[in-house]
Amino acid sequence: MAEDGHLHHLLKLAGLEPKVLLDILDQAETYLRPPGSAPARDDCLAGRTIANLFFEASTRTRASFELAAKRMSADVLNLDVNTSSRIKGESILDTIYTLQAMQADIFVIRDASAGIPALIAAKVEPHISVLNAGEADVSHPTQGLLDLLTIRQHKGGFDGLTVTIIGDIAHSRVARSLIEGLSILGNSEVRLAAPPGMEPDPDHYPGATITSDIDGAIEGTDVIVTLRIQRERIREKSSLMTNPEYLKQYGLTEARLERARADAIVMHPGPMNRDVEIAGAVADGPQSVITRQVTNGLAVRMAILATLAGNRNLA
Ligand code: ASP
Repeated sequence: MAEDGHLHHLLKLAGLEPKVLLDILDQAETYLRPPGSAPARDDCLAGRTIANLFFEASTRTRASFELAAKRMSADVLNLDVNTSSRIKGESILDTIYTLQAMQADIFVIRDASAGIPALIAAKVEPHISVLNAGEADVSHPTQGLLDLLTIRQHKGGFDGLTVTIIGDIAHSRVARSLIEGLSILGNSEVRLAAPPGMEPDPDHYPGATITSDIDGAIEGTDVIVTLRIQRERIREKSSLMTNPEYLKQYGLTEARLERARADAIVMHPGPMNRDVEIAGAVADGPQSVITRQVTNGLAVRMAILATLAGNRNLA
């Protein structure tokens, strides 16, 4: 956030003004098109360079940042982690300085270590923006925004809602960012239901109910977010992770979903493990808005790029 209250870097949702979030959601709506029609385009980043640096696996986020940049007419550089200099020993900051010297304007960063996006934001030249595309288990602000947009589209707003997140919450940046956004935009009840050993640090979720009672947490809820076990962040693997009974005990089955409100929506950030944290029939069922989340993710990323272009008079 710049001193004038405008968005300059996007590192996390916490601390942002409601208006900043709502403006991005409203702008994202303008980029949505009916299926089958040509996608929205905007040339507000023509002549500008966006560098996507993904030092951790990604499918949806990376593809949607790339498409968003192209649909805003930017030049796009996707740094392939396998061939990047970082694995040859160059520090991430040296990579950044190299791309800065090639006149990159916006860095999109995903990294498995906490603090990397903020470090880069502190070191780049002042006209450059840094967008966090997933930071360890700490923050994933564009995912939070696309989840907020999806909830708003289906529920009309955020006040008075019950939002239940189930699965590996301890290691989830998705849960962190969504709850940060919800607490900025409304007054919703948050229930976090995790299997044993996957409960979050309560300090990260003030006001939320934390439980291992998955059935109870789903009772009467408006929104269910299912989460994957974040194997890559768990050093001591537990037998729970390979338990064929996981779905029955802790996942979102059709029977469990019946406990939620009849109009409850089912979300998942992907990648999804069918019949582990979510039953395939639920993922494909009428209450699932999972593919809608993907569509919204692209629109939200376009909206963020448009916001940066508008704020900073990039001409
Ligand atoms: N795609 C999400 C993330 O990057 C969720 C996940 O990986 O499970 O955090």
